[in-house]
Amino acid sequence: MKVLKFGGTSVGSVEAIKQVASIVKQGADDGQQQVVVVSAFSGVTNELEELARLASSGDKAYLEVLEKLAAKHYQVYDTLTPGADRQFLDENIALLTDVLQGIYLLKELTAKSDAYVMSFGERMSSYIIAEYFNTLVETKRFDSRDYLIVNQDVSVTAIDHKRSIQRIGAIDSFAQVNVFPGFIASTTEGITTTLGRGGSDYSAALFANLFNATELEIWTDVSGLLSADPNLVKQARVIEHLSYEEAMELSHFGAKVIYPPSIQPALSKGIPILIKNT
Ligand code: ADP
Ligand code: ASP
Ligand code: MG
Repeated sequence: MKVLKFGGTSVGSVEAIKQVASIVKQGADDGQQQVVVVSAFSGVTNELEELARLASSGDKAYLEVLEKLAAKHYQVYDTLTPGADRQFLDENIALLTDVLQGIYLLKELTAKSDAYVMSFGERMSSYIIAEYFNTLVETKRFDSRDYLIVNQDVSVTAIDHKRSIQRIGAIDSFAQVNVFPGFIASTTEGITTTLGRGGSDYSAALFANLFNATELEIWTDVSGLLSADPNLVKQARVIEHLSYEEAMELSHFGAKVIYPPSIQPALSKGIPILIKNT
């Protein structure tokens, strides 16, 4: 089993999703069983953050932002899978609308409600992507909140390895392509939570560890871990090979291409991490 993670930059549009599908289809045609972890569409997590902020400050403008966010998802879905049933998206938008109305009325945003709002990006993107993949290759979608169980303290989120392994062990069958939303998980109390901004890399690394994957591929918009942030340093160049420790250090010092906690789960099982350009 290989784990492939596609970040927001790789799933920002209909064209981008088609490109991702062709990569995954190629893997399936080569006989590879794949776990595909996807982020929210590009910009969506920021929009959800903004929605929660507007609603909690009693600003009705959140309704307009919400409408645009819903329209974007319907547009991508209807284009990729014309005529397909909209029930899943309708239900998710309704849930999001309800929780935002609660936040708006109470003018109160708790850590739990914030995480719940933020979870919708990956919930919807993974559904849309899996439905589209399924028109091309046998695909199953799983909700990561049923499999990644975390202990959450004030500042640390630690995977509950035992419970997560149990949940994954109970899966009775996999398809050739298995789509999991990145970023989201459940606490041991069964509450929806997130792994922090940029956390889809961590989701993918945890799945690679839990599935004993042969490889973890992080697909993004740069051709590898670079010697510096390319937005700041024009001459930044790809570093061909790094040790886990070196990669961890670079990510801690700001190499956003990989979220720092993502190295450890791969390191502990010696799973190679490849950073690839979609
Ligand atoms: P994704 O949406 O795929 O998760 P991110 O935006 O989180 O993508 O991470 C990729 C971005 O990280 C690149 O576009 C690049 O601008 C930035 N980046 C910063 N530092 C580095 C680095 N040292 N090497 C590679 N990319 C870096
Ligand atoms: N969508 C989340 C974020 O923007 C997680 C991720 O993309 O890694 O932070
Ligand atoms: Mg990222």
